[in-house]
Amino acid sequence: MLIFRCLAALLAAAWLAGGSQALAQPDRPRAVQVAPDTWMVQGLSALGSAGNRNFISNAAFVVTRAGVVVFDALGSPELAKELQAEIARITPQPVTHVIVTHYHADHIYGLQVFKDAGATVIAQRDARLYLNSDTAALRLKASREELFPWIDEQTRLVPADRWIDGPTTLTVGGVDFLLQPAGPAHTPEDLVVWLPDRKLLIAGDLVFRGRVPFVGQADSAHWIEALDTLLNFDAQVIVPGHGPVSASARADLQLTRDYLAYLRQAMGAAARNMDPFEEAYARTDWSRFERLPLFGVANRINAYNTYLLMEQSGR
Ligand SMILES: [Zn+2]
Repeated sequence: MLIFRCLAALLAAAWLAGGSQALAQPDRPRAVQVAPDTWMVQGLSALGSAGNRNFISNAAFVVTRAGVVVFDALGSPELAKELQAEIARITPQPVTHVIVTHYHADHIYGLQVFKDAGATVIAQRDARLYLNSDTAALRLKASREELFPWIDEQTRLVPADRWIDGPTTLTVGGVDFLLQPAGPAHTPEDLVVWLPDRKLLIAGDLVFRGRVPFVGQADSAHWIEALDTLLNFDAQVIVPGHGPVSASARADLQLTRDYLAYLRQAMGAAARNMDPFEEAYARTDWSRFERLPLFGVANRINAYNTYLLMEQSGR
């Protein structure tokens, strides 16, 4: 009896700590329904590696009577094929569209699988700059080594068939998808998708749930503005680019926003005072965020990038 009570308490604690995030995640895409006719697969909370086949990001899909709309294509063609199989398990409908939230490797290396199967790829047009850059080519080259054999010479970058420029409504099988450009924030080409009929937001990497985001070279001031825009959607469910689905949409948007704002506040003050980074970092109280997953690997580099950004631009 006591064992059962302990187990129940543990499960309740895991649930309170963020639901499935506290439980082991399958290491292959498994579709979980998150809203009517809407499923997601959840990537591992880890860095990409050959060991995990770069399965570190989420994807989602909506089944309509005129085809399936997919959001992001996972981090390797192999994973995309498994996502295809998950979709086929649920519906005989073909995938007609893939909407790319941004062109980071872990979200797009699976695109060629859907493209070759006839889907139309849609993305925000500022991604073209990245796709044509040396950075993208070098990244793919490095991935062919680091993520071999999952990323190899056959893996290619797939541009969109349709580049969008401003807010765009896509209607498939009677379902409205509002495509809302939200960059430059996490990337220049950030695109979020709002499904008004189910109050569902596909947020890409603008919202991280249950982990510290990778800020990278992102413009955190614009990112905060973008989150303010998302807070205006009356979202009940958020599918983030990483981590579990969120039924506490506002709180999660707020946490990502607060983290970015805190980085800017702490590192901005240090940069203005010309305090050395090491000193400022050690002095900063990180207690509100330090228990989040990936804090250990992401926070210091996030703080450092923010320090440099604030030092160079003062913004
Ligand atoms: Zn990502």
